[in-house]
Amino acid sequence: MIKEWESVIGLEVHLQLKTGTKVWCGCKSDYDETGINTHVCPICLGHPGALPKLNKKVVDYAVKAALALNCKINNESAFDRKNYFYPDAPKNYQITQFEKSYAEKGYIEFKLNSGREVKIGITKVQIEEDTAKAIHGKNESYLNFNRASIPLIEIISEPDMRNSEEAYEYLNTLKNIIKYTKVSDVSMETGSLRCDANISVMEKGSKVFGTRVEVKNLNSFKAVARAIDYEIARQIELIENGGKVDQETRLWDEENQITRVMRSKEEAMDYRYFNEPDLLKLLISDEEIEEIKKDMPETRLAKVERFKNSYSLDEKDALILTEEMELSDYFEEVVKVSNNPKLSSNWILTEVLRVLKHQNIDIEKFSINSGNLAKIITLIDKNIISSKIAKELFEIALNDNRDPEIIVKEKGMLQVSDSSEIEKMVEEVLANNQKMIEDYKAADEGRKPRVLKGIVGQVMKLSKGKANPEIVNELIMSKLN
Ligand SMILES: [Zn+2]
Repeated sequence: MIKEWESVIGLEVHLQLKTGTKVWCGCKSDYDETGINTHVCPICLGHPGALPKLNKKVVDYAVKAALALNCKINNESAFDRKNYFYPDAPKNYQITQFEKSYAEKGYIEFKLNSGREVKIGITKVQIEEDTAKAIHGKNESYLNFNRASIPLIEIISEPDMRNSEEAYEYLNTLKNIIKYTKVSDVSMETGSLRCDANISVMEKGSKVFGTRVEVKNLNSFKAVARAIDYEIARQIELIENGGKVDQETRLWDEENQITRVMRSKEEAMDYRYFNEPDLLKLLISDEEIEEIKKDMPETRLAKVERFKNSYSLDEKDALILTEEMELSDYFEEVVKVSNNPKLSSNWILTEVLRVLKHQNIDIEKFSINSGNLAKIITLIDKNIISSKIAKELFEIALNDNRDPEIIVKEKGMLQVSDSSEIEKMVEEVLANNQKMIEDYKAADEGRKPRVLKGIVGQVMKLSKGKANPEIVNELIMSKLN
């Protein structure tokens, strides 16, 4: 009998909070690879006797993130020590929230490509500290303590996901929600978002989960999806061949697209958690939660509504424009200058997105800044250039960041709106296309517009796309009738 399998996936996401200073001390928390051990003090270096002090801003940011994830905020929670020995944590423990976290019972909702709506539970969100960054050379290792004690929140999902697509969309949605709160950069590239996956398989319909495997070292959302697919296939094959899945931690090997054992259950660490004696209980009052709620930035859903109401965009366009916060910012910057939301939206949704997709980049890396795109749109809006010429101008502007108005003048792209000049062209076309005129006169009312369009096309071609199409139309009509 062929068995049917079902997979069970839970994700643990770590986010660095952009608080400016670290969680237990006043050291700067802007961490990048260029600065090495420049933002350190006895507290974040873990010197014996140095006492941590909780940064209030960390709590504010953490609450904001948890509220955005529909969590319940606990009025009382505490910090715990997770004990382990590793050079990146010289205190020999990490301060985290184990027994009782500050937030729990949230959820994220999203729609899959098939249109199916999915709701994934969030078990809890906890505040903890980052470790130093270890960089391993051939014969030596380096530690960068600029990362030590940068505030983190860990978001632990329920084991609600059933395949890699759901996991991928969960991460995408989580990233977008948090981006809107502005509490984290949520970038896997720079390490401000990290993700581990717990994966198991069970017989379809079973109520008992199989043995789960934790996969680490996932460096992109795509890697998460591929590691999940790989693990599901590996575990099913193992069981079908009479083996059993071991509870273990595995690493994703990006080069070979496989997972490898990092440590088995026997090697699993006992973290000997206990309450952190150097910190007080974390108390968050209802009044404080209300204050933070008032200060929440606009959510994506609210922005969609605003785009529909203030810019008269339809829902579909508003959803695409707001999917990435940066794209919605870009759109609003363009509109501020162009004063034409509909045309700006059309250009971004077609031309700009086409280029982003083709170049495989985000809007931040797009070569035409919002001011210059707004100028191109204004040139169309004021009939200074035709839409056809605007497309050429757009292509030029991709590699030329000068003021579009200067480019238009330099390349002689101005739209011709001078009637006498256009009239000459219309006469030339009509003189050379006697057949078209006859065709037009013979055509019934239904076919006339199509024939007319053909004649307009000829004039536009003659003008190299620069004639004002409205005037061309009017002149041809008056000549023909
Ligand atoms: Zn410090």
